Amino acid sequence: MTTDALIIRENNNIGEADRFVTALTRELGVIRASARGAQNPKSRNSSATQLLSYSRLTLRRGRNKYIVEDARPISVFFALRSDIVKLALAQYFCELAGVIAPQDEPAEDFLRLMLNALHFLAEGSRDPRQIKGVLELRMLGLAGFMPDLTMCRDCGAFESEVMWLSPTEGSLVCGRCSHRPTNGYALMPNVLAAMRHVTYSEFEKCFSFTMSDEGITAFSNYTEAFLLAQLGRGFKTLDFYHTLKS
Ligand SMILES: [Zn+2]
Repeated sequence: MTTDALIIRENNNIGEADRFVTALTRELGVIRASARGAQNPKSRNSSATQLLSYSRLTLRRGRNKYIVEDARPISVFFALRSDIVKLALAQYFCELAGVIAPQDEPAEDFLRLMLNALHFLAEGSRDPRQIKGVLELRMLGLAGFMPDLTMCRDCGAFESEVMWLSPTEGSLVCGRCSHRPTNGYALMPNVLAAMRHVTYSEFEKCFSFTMSDEGITAFSNYTEAFLLAQLGRGFKTLDFYHTLKS
């Protein structure tokens, strides 16, 4: 079969001709595959099976994994390779997709989200932290971890002087109903507005909003805290990204 795919992980073992890849595909979700002869730079399959290549793959089902018979590049996010911070973020997005995108079932929405995030990251028109926060929130939503940001869970207030977000419960509670919930964050009104926009807007609009630098920092920190609390695990690529920023 033929499917469009983003290469989200690439393993090259010394002394072998084939390259092992993990790909996020439109029709089959996350798959593991072996790309024939792709470690040879002269191979036609070589560049199209590198990390962050978006390619059309012709696949055959092998015993334990798929075999890439042919790979043709559709687009390669070259601009990301020359910027260590952007590359680190792109690798984090890939690791995240590899963990929470479905396997062996269609993942069109996940792929579209990844391609848009990488496009904006490469293009440089939006703050990388903003792209990170959008990707985190939207991907969690696709995977069934959408927060309930509509109102205070106790009294139904849409806005309040203080709105707490509980990252483990993924819900809001206002300052009139409760003191700080466990690990709760007080969301600034602009951050809550941004999180609502990202969570509830149509896909085409989810990356489009403007915020102050301070707001973007808070937004990115809260989406990350929510993600880590919901998934109950960390990500090596995210840790690496943070070593670059500080
Ligand atoms: Zn309330």
